[in-house]
Amino acid sequence: MGWGSKNCFSALPDWKRKNKLMPIKALSPQVVARIAAGEVVERPASVVKELVENSLDAGATQISVEVEGGGVSLIKVTDNGAGIPSQELELAFERYATSKISDLDDLESISSLGFRGEALPSITAVAQLDMITCANGEKAGSYLGLRDGAIAERTTKGRSQGTTVTVLNLFRKIPARLKFLKSVSTENSHIANVVSHYALAFPEVKFSLSLDGRTALRTAGSGKLLDSIAEVYGAEIAENMIELKGETTPRVTGMVGLPKVSRSGRSYLSFFVNRRWVNSRMLARAVEEAYHGLLMVGRHPVAVINISLPARDVDVNIHPTKSEVKFANERAVFSAVYRAVRQTLAEQTPVPRVEAATRPILSPSEFREPTAPYAGADVGLSHPPSSPTPAAALPVLRVLGQLAGSYIITEGPDGLYLIDQHAAHERVLFERIERQRAQQDIEVQGLLEPMPLEVSPRQEAELWAHYQELAEFGFSIEPFGGKTFLVRAVPALVHDKDWVGMLRELLDSLSEGDKSHWAEAVISTMACHSAVRAGQALSDSEMRELVRELEQAATPHTCPHGRPTMIHLSYGQLKKDFGRT
Ligand code: ADP
Ligand code: MG
Repeated sequence: MGWGSKNCFSALPDWKRKNKLMPIKALSPQVVARIAAGEVVERPASVVKELVENSLDAGATQISVEVEGGGVSLIKVTDNGAGIPSQELELAFERYATSKISDLDDLESISSLGFRGEALPSITAVAQLDMITCANGEKAGSYLGLRDGAIAERTTKGRSQGTTVTVLNLFRKIPARLKFLKSVSTENSHIANVVSHYALAFPEVKFSLSLDGRTALRTAGSGKLLDSIAEVYGAEIAENMIELKGETTPRVTGMVGLPKVSRSGRSYLSFFVNRRWVNSRMLARAVEEAYHGLLMVGRHPVAVINISLPARDVDVNIHPTKSEVKFANERAVFSAVYRAVRQTLAEQTPVPRVEAATRPILSPSEFREPTAPYAGADVGLSHPPSSPTPAAALPVLRVLGQLAGSYIITEGPDGLYLIDQHAAHERVLFERIERQRAQQDIEVQGLLEPMPLEVSPRQEAELWAHYQELAEFGFSIEPFGGKTFLVRAVPALVHDKDWVGMLRELLDSLSEGDKSHWAEAVISTMACHSAVRAGQALSDSEMRELVRELEQAATPHTCPHGRPTMIHLSYGQLKKDFGRT
């Protein structure tokens, strides 16, 4: 098809041509309701979210969610909250009717989860809904049945204080929506995700979730975040969570995982702003920056972060499902989250000691803070800019010898340091390559003859995506046809190493991992493959050279994968162990 005017006109979509023939008229309330419902109720999990939020806003301490058929057949939410007074019941289903705000001023400082008065009418526009509710002081409960957005039945029914909402046959009359839903298990997993997050945000509330009769989640409502984490994420993660410490403005509380419980995706990163579950790239970035150097490339932390700030400092009214918020002072929030997490980690992941640690790696005043709140787009290397003063400098160390061909024994002013030679060299090389790349100063070694490199289909996709960028690291690679590429030059650092194996490993890890950190993955793979191995004998001068370089490193205590580079045994500890106090 060409771009001639005739063709373009005939390519006009049907609705546009029809539009010309239709006069302007207001849509019927039913059509309006369904369009508006589309914004709020995207899938069954959105219904669960709205109903659970209503229960929480009603002050419930027990909320049970029952789901059948992925939420399409049935969603039933029962709470022991305030209930709706009988005379207000019909009003609750009118659009823009709410008990949570009353004027423009209130909109400026919203403390409830709901406030638009849209959820109940939206749900009734796309499903059947039954509600039984009983408010404090009422003798009996009221029942209201809604069909096609209109009240079909109203009676009295016995129940104790609280509300039960039953949503049936969701989207049955909207085949287009139904078609877009994924499998029952996918919808169930979205629902479980919603309930789990509210369980994390409200540890004092007893939640239960049943999916087709099977209990998927049950929390005790003990008020302890750790208990909710154990239910939601399991015991292994719960055992490795540490509480955020330190005062920041705005206030940041919650728990973060030790680096060893990292995950391959970001789904274990949860943020709550004034107890509202929100998505935020900025907040995710703040936490990930705080973990910089502690996690392997492509790994992400586990964290449950609560940010409390005056309602006026955050706008929750910017997104139809209220899942995104806008902070008045984004930089302050970024920095508070970064500080809280970084400081807690610094105190908890000291140089491993033979005995309990007494001195943190970083004293609270020592840690570096990134200068920019966050990069808008993911860039290869994004972390606090390296400063000339190391974050947690090592003391000057004197080399005493090599142990088992793998460890360097050194002495510092405060005791013995046992250095893992491979991990330490990896760290040193990582920072060196990073620096040289930034200065476009990577030493390249041309091959006498171009070498053909055969790759697998997955590796090929990665290579097509990155072969030009790999030049920045000293790899000169060009497509040769089919799955073959020609390598003309490699970084001098890996020239005499198995760089073919290294490239393959790199391409595999890129195809599985997180693309946003690809540059970091390249550097870390290069460092790992070039570093001295365990079992490799080192001369005194080689050991001294390595230790000198480690002393200069910005993050000397861990290798790029987050593993420790050294163990420290203090003189104090030695004296204690020998029984001399
Ligand atoms: P919003 O939550 O934005 O106010 P909704 O349409 O979700 O709008 O609910 C309308 C009103 O119905 C609420 O403001 C509240 O007064 C009442 N309501 C809804 N669900 C419950 C519940 N589970 N318990 C008590 N009141 C409820
Ligand atoms: Mg609501």
